[in-house]
Amino acid sequence: MLRSATFTRLSLFTRLSLLTRLLLQVVTVPKTMPELPEVETTRRGIAPYIEGQEITEVLVRQPRLRVPVPDDLAERLVGARIGVLKRRAKYLQIPIHSARDFEREREGSADVADATLLWHLGMSGSLRIARVGDLPKKHDHVDVVTASGYVLRYHDPRRFGFVDWQLDDETQDKRLAHLGPEPLSDAFTGKWLYTLSRNKRVAVKPFLMDNQVVVGAGNIYAAEALFMAGIDPRRAAGRVSLARYNALALAVKEVLAAAIAQGGTTLRDFVSGQGEPGYFAQRLNVYGRQGQPCLRCGAELRHIKLGQRASVFCPSCQH
Ligand SMILES: [Zn+2]
Repeated sequence: MLRSATFTRLSLFTRLSLLTRLLLQVVTVPKTMPELPEVETTRRGIAPYIEGQEITEVLVRQPRLRVPVPDDLAERLVGARIGVLKRRAKYLQIPIHSARDFEREREGSADVADATLLWHLGMSGSLRIARVGDLPKKHDHVDVVTASGYVLRYHDPRRFGFVDWQLDDETQDKRLAHLGPEPLSDAFTGKWLYTLSRNKRVAVKPFLMDNQVVVGAGNIYAAEALFMAGIDPRRAAGRVSLARYNALALAVKEVLAAAIAQGGTTLRDFVSGQGEPGYFAQRLNVYGRQGQPCLRCGAELRHIKLGQRASVFCPSCQH
C-alpha cells in the first residue's frame, strides 16, 4: 500500500512523516525508563508552576540518591527564585536566581543565574507538582516548596537519579561537556552523522546511541528510527550513505517529536496530590516486538544483541 506510485512521488520528509504517523498508531509498549521525551515533557509540564517563583522551603527526606543531595541545597535555595527551565540531553537545568540577581535583572542587566541545578531522573525518577499539604508518598525524596503553594516533588523508587549543582561554566561540567547535539536542533543532520561516521566500523545502531554523536537516541528510539529509515542496525556506521543518513536524521527527529507530542497529551496532569505521571507508553513498530510480524511487510521481526543492547529489526525492510 505504502509503496504505491503516489507514495514514492512524495518527498522523503513527507514519506517519513506519513510512515511515522501511520505506524505510530499501532502498537503500545510500556517504557521502563525516562528518556529524552519524558524529560522534555516534564520540563514543559512543571515550568508554568515554578518558573519565577520564590522558594520558601526545601525538604530532603532521603539524601542518598545516585549522587548525595548537596548539603547546602536548602541553604542556597530558600529565598531564591526559579528561572526559566532548560533541558540538555536528559538533564533538566533549573536556574536559581538569588534576590540580588532579580534586582540586577530589574535594572536591566544580563539574565545570569547565580547557580543552576542539574536534575536527572535516573532509571525511575519523576518530578511532579504537588500542593502544600499534600502528604508525601513512599519514595518522595525531595520537595522544593514555592511561595505560590506549589511544590516540586521528586519521586524515585530506585534512587538512580540525582539533583546537584551544575558547574558555573557549563562547558567545564563533565556531565555536559562532551554531549553531542540535541536531536531536534538544526545542528543534528544527516551530514553530521555521515561526516562523523566515515571509516567507523562500529554498527550504526550503537553509533547512533552514542551520546557524543547525538543525545536522546536511546535504545527504543534508535531501533524505531532505523526501522523508519530502512537501515539494518548491524550495518557498519561507515558504510551508510549520506542519503540514508539524511533519512535517519529525519526519522530520529520524527520519532522523538512524536513521543514528546504524545507525552504532552498523556502527562497533561502534572498537578496531582495522588498518582504520579509515570512514563508514557508509546506506539512502537519494532522495539519489544521480536517474533511478531513487521507492520510494514509482515516478515517476522528478529532480535539480536548489538553493543550489549537488545535490538529488534525487520530483516526484510532493513538492509
Ligand atoms: Zn518489514
